[in-house]
Amino acid sequence: MISESFSINEKGHLTIGGADALELAAEYGTPLYVLDEEAIRRACRRYRSSLERFYGGNGRVLYASKAFCCKEIYRIVAGEGLGADVVSGGEIYTALEAGFPAGRLYFHGNNKTEDELRYAVQNGVGTIVVDNLTELRRLTGLLEETGRQQDILLRIKPGIDAHTHSFIRTGQIDSKFGFALETGEALEAVRAAAAAAPVRLKGLHCHIGSQIFDVEPFRHAAGVMADFMGEIKKETGLELETLNLGGGFGIQYVEKDDPAAYESYMEQVAAEVHSRCRRQGIPIPEVLIEPGRSIVGGAGATLYTVGALKEIPGVRTYLSVDGGMADNPRYALYGSEYEAVVCARAGEPRTETVTIAGKCCESGDLLAEGASIQACGPGDILAVLATGAYNYSMASNYNRLPRPAVVMVRGGQARLAVRRESYADLVRNDL
Ligand SMILES: *Cc1c(COP(=O)(O)O)cnc(C)c1O
Repeated sequence: MISESFSINEKGHLTIGGADALELAAEYGTPLYVLDEEAIRRACRRYRSSLERFYGGNGRVLYASKAFCCKEIYRIVAGEGLGADVVSGGEIYTALEAGFPAGRLYFHGNNKTEDELRYAVQNGVGTIVVDNLTELRRLTGLLEETGRQQDILLRIKPGIDAHTHSFIRTGQIDSKFGFALETGEALEAVRAAAAAAPVRLKGLHCHIGSQIFDVEPFRHAAGVMADFMGEIKKETGLELETLNLGGGFGIQYVEKDDPAAYESYMEQVAAEVHSRCRRQGIPIPEVLIEPGRSIVGGAGATLYTVGALKEIPGVRTYLSVDGGMADNPRYALYGSEYEAVVCARAGEPRTETVTIAGKCCESGDLLAEGASIQACGPGDILAVLATGAYNYSMASNYNRLPRPAVVMVRGGQARLAVRRESYADLVRNDL
Protein backbone atom coordinates (compact mmCIF):
# COMPACT_ATOMS: atom_id res chain seq x y z
CA MET A 1 0.00 0.00 0.00
CA ILE A 2 1.04 3.61 -0.46
CA SER A 3 1.94 4.12 3.18
CA GLU A 4 3.00 1.88 6.05
CA SER A 5 -0.12 2.92 7.96
CA PHE A 6 -2.35 0.76 5.78
CA SER A 7 -2.50 -2.99 5.67
CA ILE A 8 -4.93 -5.87 5.25
CA ASN A 9 -5.91 -8.20 8.11
CA GLU A 10 -6.82 -11.89 8.13
CA LYS A 11 -10.45 -11.03 7.32
CA GLY A 12 -9.31 -9.22 4.21
CA HIS A 13 -10.28 -5.86 5.72
CA LEU A 14 -8.29 -2.66 5.43
CA THR A 15 -6.47 -1.73 8.63
CA ILE A 16 -5.28 1.73 9.59
CA GLY A 17 -2.54 1.78 12.20
CA GLY A 18 -3.52 -1.83 12.94
CA ALA A 19 -7.22 -1.09 13.55
CA ASP A 20 -9.90 -2.67 11.36
CA ALA A 21 -11.45 0.08 9.23
CA LEU A 22 -14.86 -1.59 9.29
CA GLU A 23 -14.89 -1.68 13.08
CA LEU A 24 -13.88 1.98 13.22
CA ALA A 25 -16.67 2.93 10.83
CA ALA A 26 -19.18 0.89 12.87
CA GLU A 27 -18.09 2.46 16.13
CA TYR A 28 -17.63 6.10 15.12
CA GLY A 29 -19.77 6.45 12.00
CA THR A 30 -18.83 7.94 8.65
CA PRO A 31 -17.45 10.10 7.22
CA LEU A 32 -14.55 9.62 9.59
CA TYR A 33 -10.96 10.80 9.62
CA VAL A 34 -8.61 8.17 11.01
CA LEU A 35 -4.98 8.88 11.87
CA ASP A 36 -2.23 6.43 12.75
CA GLU A 37 -0.52 8.00 15.73
CA GLU A 38 2.50 5.69 15.61
CA ALA A 39 3.18 6.74 12.02
CA ILE A 40 3.01 10.40 13.02
CA ARG A 41 5.41 9.79 15.87
CA ARG A 42 7.76 7.79 13.64
CA ALA A 43 7.85 10.64 11.13
CA CYS A 44 8.69 13.14 13.88
CA ARG A 45 11.50 10.89 15.11
CA ARG A 46 12.85 10.35 11.63
CA TYR A 47 13.12 14.09 11.08
CA ARG A 48 14.73 14.61 14.44
CA SER A 49 17.26 11.86 13.91
CA SER A 50 18.25 13.15 10.51
CA LEU A 51 18.78 16.63 11.97
CA GLU A 52 20.95 14.91 14.54
CA ARG A 53 22.82 13.04 11.86
CA PHE A 54 23.35 15.75 9.27
CA TYR A 55 23.51 18.90 11.39
CA GLY A 56 24.90 17.45 14.62
CA GLY A 57 21.61 18.26 16.33
CA ASN A 58 22.05 22.02 15.81
CA GLY A 59 18.52 22.49 14.60
CA ARG A 60 14.87 21.96 15.27
CA VAL A 61 11.95 20.28 13.57
CA LEU A 62 8.82 22.41 13.50
CA TYR A 63 5.55 20.72 12.70
CA ALA A 64 3.62 22.83 10.18
CA SER A 65 0.29 23.00 11.99
CA LYS A 66 -1.78 23.97 9.01
CA ALA A 67 -1.50 20.44 7.58
CA PHE A 68 -3.65 19.11 10.42
CA CYS A 69 -4.53 21.22 13.42
CA CYS A 70 -6.31 20.24 16.61
CA LYS A 71 -5.29 20.02 20.25
CA GLU A 72 -4.30 16.37 20.11
CA ILE A 73 -1.73 16.81 17.34
CA TYR A 74 -0.03 19.56 19.34
CA ARG A 75 0.20 17.19 22.33
CA ILE A 76 1.70 14.50 20.12
CA VAL A 77 4.31 16.65 18.41
CA ALA A 78 5.17 18.42 21.68
CA GLY A 79 5.75 15.00 23.20
CA GLU A 80 8.12 14.20 20.33
CA GLY A 81 10.14 17.33 21.10
CA LEU A 82 9.11 19.30 18.03
CA GLY A 83 8.34 22.98 17.72
CA ALA A 84 5.44 24.15 15.59
CA ASP A 85 4.82 26.56 12.80
CA VAL A 86 1.56 28.47 13.23
CA VAL A 87 -0.08 30.85 10.78
CA SER A 88 -2.95 32.47 12.64
CA GLY A 89 -4.26 33.55 16.01
CA GLY A 90 -6.52 30.50 15.89
CA GLU A 91 -3.62 28.09 15.49
CA ILE A 92 -1.74 29.83 18.31
CA TYR A 93 -4.82 29.58 20.50
CA THR A 94 -5.27 25.87 19.74
CA ALA A 95 -1.61 25.18 20.51
CA LEU A 96 -1.75 27.06 23.81
CA GLU A 97 -5.00 25.35 24.79
CA ALA A 98 -3.22 22.04 24.24
CA GLY A 99 -0.40 23.13 26.54
CA PHE A 100 2.11 23.51 23.73
CA PRO A 101 5.16 25.49 24.91
CA ALA A 102 4.75 29.01 23.45
CA GLY A 103 8.50 29.47 23.13
CA ARG A 104 8.58 26.68 20.54
CA LEU A 105 6.00 28.39 18.28
CA TYR A 106 7.04 30.14 15.06
CA PHE A 107 4.41 32.53 13.78
CA HIS A 108 4.18 32.76 9.97
CA GLY A 109 1.86 34.47 7.51
CA ASN A 110 1.86 37.23 4.93
CA ASN A 111 -0.77 39.34 6.66
CA LYS A 112 -0.75 38.88 10.40
CA THR A 113 -3.21 41.34 11.83
CA GLU A 114 -2.32 43.77 14.59
CA ASP A 115 -4.53 41.75 16.96
CA GLU A 116 -2.80 38.51 16.06
CA LEU A 117 0.64 40.06 16.53
CA ARG A 118 -0.36 41.46 19.93
CA TYR A 119 -1.83 38.10 20.92
CA ALA A 120 1.39 36.33 19.88
CA VAL A 121 3.65 38.77 21.73
CA GLN A 122 1.54 38.75 24.89
CA ASN A 123 1.47 34.98 24.97
CA GLY A 124 5.20 34.56 24.53
CA VAL A 125 5.26 33.07 21.04
CA GLY A 126 8.97 32.34 20.61
CA THR A 127 9.61 33.60 17.11
CA ILE A 128 7.73 35.72 14.63
CA VAL A 129 8.63 35.21 10.99
CA VAL A 130 8.24 38.70 9.57
CA ASP A 131 6.92 38.79 6.02
CA ASN A 132 7.04 42.46 5.00
CA LEU A 133 8.01 45.96 6.13
CA THR A 134 4.47 46.92 7.12
CA GLU A 135 4.51 44.00 9.53
CA LEU A 136 7.96 44.91 10.83
CA ARG A 137 6.75 48.44 11.61
CA ARG A 138 3.54 47.13 13.14
CA LEU A 139 5.44 44.69 15.33
CA THR A 140 8.07 47.25 16.34
CA GLY A 141 5.36 49.73 17.36
CA LEU A 142 3.59 47.13 19.39
CA LEU A 143 6.77 46.04 21.16
CA GLU A 144 7.62 49.67 21.98
CA GLU A 145 4.18 50.03 23.55
CA THR A 146 4.61 46.98 25.72
CA GLY A 147 8.33 47.32 26.41
CA ARG A 148 8.96 43.77 25.23
CA GLN A 149 11.58 42.27 22.93
CA GLN A 150 10.83 39.65 20.30
CA ASP A 151 12.92 37.16 18.33
CA ILE A 152 12.20 37.31 14.62
CA LEU A 153 13.19 35.69 11.35
CA LEU A 154 12.67 37.33 7.97
CA ARG A 155 10.83 35.42 5.27
CA ILE A 156 12.83 35.51 2.05
CA LYS A 157 11.76 34.54 -1.47
CA PRO A 158 14.85 32.81 -2.76
CA GLY A 159 13.68 33.06 -6.38
CA ILE A 160 13.21 29.33 -6.89
CA ASP A 161 10.47 27.98 -9.09
CA ALA A 162 9.71 24.54 -7.67
CA HIS A 163 7.79 22.18 -9.93
CA THR A 164 4.53 21.80 -8.13
CA HIS A 165 0.99 23.11 -8.45
CA SER A 166 0.98 26.92 -8.85
CA PHE A 167 -1.33 27.35 -5.85
CA ILE A 168 1.25 25.77 -3.55
CA ARG A 169 4.40 27.27 -5.10
CA THR A 170 5.83 30.02 -2.93
CA GLY A 171 9.53 30.55 -3.59
CA GLN A 172 9.37 32.51 -6.86
CA ILE A 173 9.51 36.29 -7.13
CA ASP A 174 5.83 36.48 -8.07
CA SER A 175 4.62 35.28 -4.69
CA LYS A 176 2.67 37.04 -1.98
CA PHE A 177 5.05 35.67 0.64
CA GLY A 178 8.24 37.31 1.85
CA PHE A 179 10.99 39.69 0.76
CA ALA A 180 12.49 39.34 -2.72
CA LEU A 181 16.21 38.73 -2.99
CA GLU A 182 16.66 39.82 -6.60
CA THR A 183 15.42 43.34 -6.07
CA GLY A 184 17.51 44.11 -3.00
CA GLU A 185 14.34 44.24 -0.90
CA ALA A 186 15.57 41.41 1.33
CA LEU A 187 18.84 43.14 2.23
CA GLU A 188 16.95 46.35 2.96
CA ALA A 189 14.66 44.39 5.26
CA VAL A 190 17.69 42.95 7.09
CA ARG A 191 19.03 46.47 7.62
CA ALA A 192 15.62 47.70 8.83
CA ALA A 193 15.22 44.77 11.22
CA ALA A 194 18.75 45.15 12.58
CA ALA A 195 18.02 48.83 13.29
CA ALA A 196 14.71 48.15 15.03
CA ALA A 197 15.66 47.95 18.71
CA PRO A 198 12.83 45.82 20.15
CA VAL A 199 13.26 43.00 17.66
CA ARG A 200 16.15 40.57 17.76
CA LEU A 201 16.87 39.42 14.22
CA LYS A 202 17.82 35.75 14.62
CA GLY A 203 17.90 34.70 11.01
CA LEU A 204 16.11 33.92 7.80
CA HIS A 205 13.31 31.72 6.60
CA CYS A 206 12.27 30.38 3.21
CA HIS A 207 9.63 27.93 2.09
CA ILE A 208 9.52 27.18 -1.62
CA GLY A 209 6.26 25.25 -1.87
CA SER A 210 4.60 21.98 -1.04
CA GLN A 211 4.37 18.42 -2.36
CA ILE A 212 7.81 18.75 -4.02
CA PHE A 213 9.34 15.47 -5.19
CA ASP A 214 12.87 16.49 -6.20
CA VAL A 215 15.79 17.34 -3.99
CA GLU A 216 17.16 19.91 -6.41
CA PRO A 217 14.89 22.89 -5.62
CA PHE A 218 15.49 22.38 -1.89
CA ARG A 219 19.25 22.16 -2.42
CA HIS A 220 19.14 25.23 -4.64
CA ALA A 221 17.12 27.24 -2.11
CA ALA A 222 19.43 26.27 0.75
CA GLY A 223 22.44 27.38 -1.30
CA VAL A 224 20.85 30.70 -2.18
CA MET A 225 19.94 31.32 1.45
CA ALA A 226 23.42 30.46 2.77
CA ASP A 227 24.96 32.74 0.15
CA PHE A 228 22.63 35.50 1.25
CA MET A 229 23.73 35.01 4.85
CA GLY A 230 27.29 35.47 3.59
CA GLU A 231 26.28 38.63 1.75
CA ILE A 232 24.59 39.96 4.88
CA LYS A 233 27.78 39.46 6.82
CA LYS A 234 29.81 41.24 4.15
CA GLU A 235 27.39 44.14 3.80
CA THR A 236 26.35 44.69 7.40
CA GLY A 237 28.72 42.69 9.60
CA LEU A 238 25.74 40.76 10.98
CA GLU A 239 26.22 37.06 11.62
CA LEU A 240 22.77 35.45 11.71
CA GLU A 241 22.21 32.38 13.90
CA THR A 242 19.25 30.65 12.31
CA LEU A 243 18.28 29.36 8.90
CA ASN A 244 14.77 28.01 8.52
CA LEU A 245 14.45 26.03 5.30
CA GLY A 246 10.69 25.47 5.45
CA GLY A 247 8.73 22.36 4.58
CA GLY A 248 7.29 21.01 1.37
CA PHE A 249 8.57 17.44 1.26
CA GLY A 250 6.33 15.42 -1.05
CA ILE A 251 4.47 12.23 -0.16
CA GLN A 252 2.99 9.37 -2.11
CA TYR A 253 -0.73 9.71 -2.78
CA VAL A 254 -1.05 7.30 -5.68
CA GLU A 255 1.08 4.48 -7.06
CA LYS A 256 2.89 6.64 -9.61
CA ASP A 257 4.02 9.31 -7.11
CA ASP A 258 7.73 9.00 -6.50
CA PRO A 259 9.01 11.47 -3.90
CA ALA A 260 12.76 11.53 -3.26
CA ALA A 261 13.80 9.36 -0.36
CA TYR A 262 13.45 11.52 2.61
CA GLU A 263 16.93 11.04 4.12
CA SER A 264 18.32 11.97 0.76
CA TYR A 265 16.74 15.44 1.00
CA MET A 266 18.26 15.96 4.37
CA GLU A 267 21.68 14.71 3.37
CA GLN A 268 21.99 16.69 0.16
CA VAL A 269 20.57 19.88 1.60
CA ALA A 270 22.87 19.63 4.62
CA ALA A 271 25.89 19.11 2.36
CA GLU A 272 24.90 22.25 0.44
CA VAL A 273 24.46 24.32 3.61
CA HIS A 274 27.84 23.19 4.93
CA SER A 275 29.76 23.83 1.74
CA ARG A 276 28.17 27.24 1.10
CA CYS A 277 28.74 28.43 4.64
CA ARG A 278 32.36 27.36 4.44
CA ARG A 279 32.76 29.24 1.16
CA GLN A 280 31.09 32.32 2.64
CA GLY A 281 33.21 32.16 5.77
CA ILE A 282 30.22 32.08 8.08
CA PRO A 283 29.42 29.63 10.87
CA ILE A 284 26.92 26.85 10.20
CA PRO A 285 23.60 28.24 11.42
CA GLU A 286 21.01 26.46 13.50
CA VAL A 287 18.84 24.78 10.84
CA LEU A 288 15.07 24.55 11.14
CA ILE A 289 12.77 22.49 8.95
CA GLU A 290 8.98 22.65 8.85
CA PRO A 291 7.41 19.46 7.55
CA GLY A 292 3.61 19.29 7.63
CA ARG A 293 2.23 17.00 4.94
CA SER A 294 5.04 14.45 5.30
CA ILE A 295 4.31 14.04 9.03
CA VAL A 296 0.55 13.51 8.89
CA GLY A 297 -0.44 12.96 5.25
CA GLY A 298 0.33 9.28 4.78
CA ALA A 299 -0.81 8.53 8.34
CA GLY A 300 -4.45 9.30 7.62
CA ALA A 301 -7.44 7.93 5.75
CA THR A 302 -11.05 9.00 5.45
CA LEU A 303 -13.82 6.44 5.72
CA TYR A 304 -17.07 6.96 3.84
CA THR A 305 -20.23 4.97 3.33
CA VAL A 306 -21.08 4.26 -0.27
CA GLY A 307 -24.50 5.52 -1.30
CA ALA A 308 -25.76 5.47 -4.86
CA LEU A 309 -23.90 4.07 -7.84
CA LYS A 310 -24.87 5.77 -11.09
CA GLU A 311 -23.67 4.09 -14.24
CA ILE A 312 -23.90 6.28 -17.33
CA PRO A 313 -23.28 3.92 -20.25
CA GLY A 314 -20.36 4.99 -22.39
CA VAL A 315 -19.62 7.91 -20.05
CA ARG A 316 -18.65 6.87 -16.53
CA THR A 317 -19.84 5.41 -13.26
CA TYR A 318 -20.41 7.78 -10.37
CA LEU A 319 -20.02 6.30 -6.94
CA SER A 320 -21.41 8.70 -4.36
CA VAL A 321 -20.21 8.81 -0.77
CA ASP A 322 -21.53 10.49 2.36
CA GLY A 323 -18.82 13.19 2.41
CA GLY A 324 -16.94 15.05 -0.31
CA MET A 325 -15.48 18.48 -0.88
CA ALA A 326 -16.62 19.67 2.56
CA ASP A 327 -14.24 17.21 4.25
CA ASN A 328 -11.68 17.03 1.43
CA PRO A 329 -11.59 20.01 -0.94
CA ARG A 330 -8.25 19.08 -2.47
CA TYR A 331 -9.53 17.51 -5.67
CA ALA A 332 -11.75 20.52 -6.29
CA LEU A 333 -8.87 22.89 -5.46
CA TYR A 334 -5.90 21.28 -7.18
CA GLY A 335 -7.11 18.16 -8.93
CA SER A 336 -5.20 16.12 -6.33
CA GLU A 337 -5.25 12.39 -6.88
CA TYR A 338 -6.14 9.80 -4.28
CA GLU A 339 -6.29 6.06 -4.00
CA ALA A 340 -9.47 4.45 -2.67
CA VAL A 341 -10.09 0.99 -1.24
CA VAL A 342 -13.26 -0.94 -0.45
CA CYS A 343 -12.52 -1.76 3.20
CA ALA A 344 -14.23 -5.15 3.33
CA ARG A 345 -12.39 -6.42 0.23
CA ALA A 346 -9.09 -4.56 0.46
CA GLY A 347 -7.06 -7.50 -0.82
CA GLU A 348 -9.25 -8.35 -3.79
CA PRO A 349 -8.52 -7.31 -7.34
CA ARG A 350 -9.59 -3.83 -8.38
CA THR A 351 -12.07 -4.56 -11.12
CA GLU A 352 -14.07 -1.31 -11.22
CA THR A 353 -13.22 2.13 -12.56
CA VAL A 354 -15.29 4.85 -10.95
CA THR A 355 -15.57 8.55 -10.31
CA ILE A 356 -15.96 9.09 -6.60
CA ALA A 357 -18.42 11.90 -6.00
CA GLY A 358 -19.32 13.69 -2.81
CA LYS A 359 -22.79 14.69 -1.67
CA CYS A 360 -22.41 18.47 -2.12
CA CYS A 361 -24.43 20.43 -4.63
CA GLU A 362 -21.54 21.00 -7.04
CA SER A 363 -20.57 18.96 -10.07
CA GLY A 364 -16.96 19.65 -9.11
CA ASP A 365 -17.48 17.89 -5.80
CA LEU A 366 -15.34 14.87 -6.62
CA LEU A 367 -12.73 12.98 -4.63
CA ALA A 368 -11.24 11.02 -7.53
CA GLU A 369 -11.78 10.35 -11.21
CA GLY A 370 -10.80 7.13 -12.95
CA ALA A 371 -10.26 5.49 -9.56
CA SER A 372 -9.69 1.80 -9.71
CA ILE A 373 -11.43 -0.03 -6.84
CA GLN A 374 -12.86 -3.37 -5.81
CA ALA A 375 -16.51 -4.14 -6.64
CA CYS A 376 -18.84 -2.54 -4.12
CA GLY A 377 -22.37 -1.36 -3.57
CA PRO A 378 -24.53 0.79 -1.32
CA GLY A 379 -23.62 0.44 2.35
CA ASP A 380 -20.01 -0.59 1.74
CA ILE A 381 -17.30 1.35 3.54
CA LEU A 382 -14.82 3.07 1.26
CA ALA A 383 -11.48 4.42 2.44
CA VAL A 384 -9.72 7.27 0.67
CA LEU A 385 -6.05 6.96 1.60
CA ALA A 386 -3.40 9.48 2.59
CA THR A 387 -5.86 12.15 3.68
CA GLY A 388 -4.04 13.02 6.91
CA ALA A 389 -2.85 16.40 5.64
CA TYR A 390 -4.89 19.33 4.38
CA ASN A 391 -8.22 17.54 4.70
CA TYR A 392 -9.56 18.08 8.21
CA SER A 393 -7.73 21.42 8.34
CA MET A 394 -9.39 22.56 5.11
CA ALA A 395 -12.82 21.14 5.90
CA SER A 396 -15.87 23.37 5.80
CA ASN A 397 -19.55 23.20 6.63
CA TYR A 398 -20.55 23.72 3.01
CA ASN A 399 -24.15 22.58 2.50
CA ARG A 400 -24.29 22.58 6.29
CA LEU A 401 -22.50 19.27 6.52
CA PRO A 402 -21.23 18.74 10.06
CA ARG A 403 -17.46 18.16 10.09
CA PRO A 404 -16.54 14.49 10.65
CA ALA A 405 -14.92 13.20 13.81
CA VAL A 406 -11.17 12.54 13.97
CA VAL A 407 -9.98 9.29 15.50
CA MET A 408 -6.40 8.50 16.54
CA VAL A 409 -5.25 4.92 16.45
CA ARG A 410 -2.36 3.71 18.56
CA GLY A 411 -1.36 0.10 19.03
CA GLY A 412 -4.54 -0.93 17.24
CA GLN A 413 -6.66 1.00 19.81
CA ALA A 414 -8.76 3.93 18.67
CA ARG A 415 -9.71 7.05 20.58
CA LEU A 416 -11.60 10.16 19.65
CA ALA A 417 -9.40 13.22 19.04
CA VAL A 418 -12.07 15.54 17.65
CA ARG A 419 -15.78 14.99 18.16
CA ARG A 420 -18.13 14.86 15.19
CA GLU A 421 -20.01 18.14 14.80
CA SER A 422 -23.71 18.03 15.53
CA TYR A 423 -26.53 19.92 13.88
CA ALA A 424 -26.59 22.08 17.01
CA ASP A 425 -22.92 23.01 16.36
CA LEU A 426 -23.96 24.25 12.94
CA VAL A 427 -26.25 26.92 14.38
CA ARG A 428 -24.20 27.71 17.47
CA ASN A 429 -23.21 31.16 16.24
CA ASP A 430 -26.39 31.92 14.34
CA LEU A 431 -28.50 34.70 15.87
C1 LIG B 1 2.73 25.07 4.35
C2 LIG B 1 4.01 25.44 4.99
C3 LIG B 1 4.85 24.45 5.49
C4 LIG B 1 4.55 22.97 5.38
O1 LIG B 1 4.48 22.52 4.10
P1 LIG B 1 4.30 20.94 3.83
O2 LIG B 1 4.28 20.83 2.38
O3 LIG B 1 3.02 20.55 4.46
O4 LIG B 1 5.46 20.26 4.45
C5 LIG B 1 6.02 24.84 6.12
N1 LIG B 1 6.34 26.15 6.25
C6 LIG B 1 5.55 27.12 5.77
C7 LIG B 1 5.95 28.52 5.96
C8 LIG B 1 4.37 26.82 5.12
O5 LIG B 1 3.61 27.79 4.64
